Formats: sequence, structure tokens, C-alpha cells
Amino acid sequence: MKKYGLNTICTHVGEIKDKQFKGAVSPIFLSSSYEFLDVDVKRYPRYFNTPNQEYLAKKIAALEHAEEAIIFGSGMAAISTMFLAFLQKGDHLVVQNTLYGGTVNFIKEEFPKYGIEFTFTEGYDVRDFENAMQSNTKLIHIETPSNPLMTITNMKAISNLAKSKGVVTSMDNTFASPVNQNPLDYGIDMVMHSATKYFGGHSDICAGAVASSSENIERIWNVAKNLGGSLSDMTVWMLERSMKTLGLRVKAQTKNAMKLAKWLQNHPKISKVYYPGLKSHPEHKLAKSQMRGFGAMLSFELTENLDSYKFQKQLKLIKSSMSLAGIESTVISPHLTSHALLTQDERDKVGISDHLIRFSVGIENVKDIKQDIEQAINTI
Ligand SMILES: *Cc1c(COP(=O)(O)O)cnc(C)c1O
Repeated sequence: MKKYGLNTICTHVGEIKDKQFKGAVSPIFLSSSYEFLDVDVKRYPRYFNTPNQEYLAKKIAALEHAEEAIIFGSGMAAISTMFLAFLQKGDHLVVQNTLYGGTVNFIKEEFPKYGIEFTFTEGYDVRDFENAMQSNTKLIHIETPSNPLMTITNMKAISNLAKSKGVVTSMDNTFASPVNQNPLDYGIDMVMHSATKYFGGHSDICAGAVASSSENIERIWNVAKNLGGSLSDMTVWMLERSMKTLGLRVKAQTKNAMKLAKWLQNHPKISKVYYPGLKSHPEHKLAKSQMRGFGAMLSFELTENLDSYKFQKQLKLIKSSMSLAGIESTVISPHLTSHALLTQDERDKVGISDHLIRFSVGIENVKDIKQDIEQAINTI
């Protein structure tokens, strides 16, 4: 296929031609029943191959420089299906210690039932991954930038380590999105997304995706059709519409995040800012070497005397809401939400304090976002 630029892929790859009426956008096919005799493809929603599913997957594959992709009903459906396609009884998973909370819960609660072993790394350096490996390790899973402290993992080093031991690698690329980073270019085997986040981008869709080689996607598909985590075609169509502006949105959000990170860093009531685009970030150089932009997620710590709950309550424009990556700015306290199930000790160990605020930067005007934060701090 011809190599298109980012926004052309977002707008056009995977379009379904409306041959009958010549409409400008992909028609939506809601059939859950298709011709079965004498057809090349036997289509069925749970086979992940209705026209809208099949074609949107092409857009995601192109964005992630992958041969193929498969889309799911949620990010967790994508990750759980991917894990179960590559791990079976007696196998071992090495997984990064700082990770999306839902993924941690899935591993801890479900893997023992399947007899799959796992080790969470001590840190996110390549040596930590090497130390966690066993003779039965089959998969290494990483997340970079990670939730909520935006740590950066060296994709090339991890993929080299895994390749030297014949182990497969997977990565959660939700935070950066393919706009800012393409893990497959660094040798990572499989990349997954919560499409609920930047792909959807308007906080109104729940979906997921995995992109990889045709061989790996086939292996995932074989499990996917059994687990049945497929996406409704109505949502697929909405996701296609959303993804046309993925490049525009994420670039605008990334630009805003850089400006806000710099401003927050110099704010007297903010004690710390975690953003890979700042020179003060411990892995800034590494981030620069593997990301095109530093993304639109950041975290900051309010000074000791400011209460994070009261701060959120005072915000007028920025919403305090669970999810992330919409065009509107949102914040959460990880200790009250995504990491509430961890003990205080566990949170201290990974550096999640009670004063930490995770900030998903939207497309609003930076001066209005600054003003909102300023007035909230002044009120409390
Ligand atoms: C939200 C999220 C997920 C899970 O996705 P759902 O669509 O909520 O199932 C996985 N990884 C990351 C980094 C996320 O932010």
C-alpha cells in the first residue's frame, strides 16, 4: 500500500465506498446475518469481520505500521484476549510494575484461575525485565508513558531482550497514541489500545484494538471468536468518524500539554510535574528518542498544604472525571480512583502520593485552563 501521511490515513484509509448512492462517508452495515453459501468471507459480528469492523481495522493497522489489526468492545477485551492468545497454563508473563489499574486487576484476579504465572517488575529499566524473566516466560508486556507517573520504558531495549530469548512483546500504547509513537517500529510485536481514549476522543465510545503481524492477529482472532468481545457496528461507525480527527486532536492536545507542563513546573503551589517533554523528567532523552511528541497526559503534585479533593471540587472548567483523552480537559486523584485498590504502602512504593493529580489535557485555550487551575488553588 502507498505510504500516506498521518492525517490522510486518519481521513481515508479503511473507507467503505458507497457504490450505490456515492455518499461521501462509509455506509454502516448493521446486518448480523450474511450470505453463507458460495461466499469468500463468511461474515458474522462475533467473527470480527462485518464490513465496518473489517475496514476500520485497516485504518488502525495503517496508523500503527502493522500488517493487520482487530477491534474489540473495550480496551480490556483487547488486552485480555491478546494475553490469553499468547499465554496458557504453565506459561509466565513478565509485566511492568507501573501499569493501567484494570490490567493489573485482570492479571491478579484471573491468571491464577488459568494457571498462568506472572511477575511484576521491580522497576521499568530493561534490567528489571531481565531479572523478572523465567525459563517459561512467553510474553513481556509494557506501558510507556505509564499511568499515572508517565515513566518511559525503552521499547528497543525491551524488544531486543525479548528477541534474544525468543519471547513475544506487547505494549499498551493508549497514552501516546499512534500520533506520538509507533511501538512496532521499535521491534515490539503487538500494540494494543483502549480506543475509549484518544481513538474515540469525545468521551462517548468504549472500544479497543490490537495491531500486529497477520500471523499474530490470526492467533488473537482464534481466541477472540471464542471470548466474543466484539464491538457493535454502530459504535464501529462512530469510531471511524472520530478517528478522522485523531491526528488533529492529539497534536493540539500534545501542544497544550507541553505549554501547561512548563507553566505548572514554575507554579509556586505545584511541587512536582511529571511530563516526559520536560527536561527535568528522568527519561526525557529516551522519550525524545522514541516519541514524535510527548503526549497530552501529565501529572502534578500540589504542595503539602493543599488538599487534592478540595482542589478538584473547585475546578469550574476542567472536569474531575474517571476517563481520559477526550477533547475536554479532565483530572483525577489516582489515590482515590485508578489506584484506590492498592494499599498505602503499595502506592508509596510506586510514588503515588495523596497530592498527585493526573491531568488529561484537552483542546481548550491554554489561558482558560491556566485560569481555572489558578482560581481553584487560590480558593482553597
Ligand atoms: C482505559 C485504559 C485501558 C482499558 O480500556 P477500556 O476501554 O476502559 O477497557 C487500558 N489501558 C490504558 C492505558 C487505559 O487508559
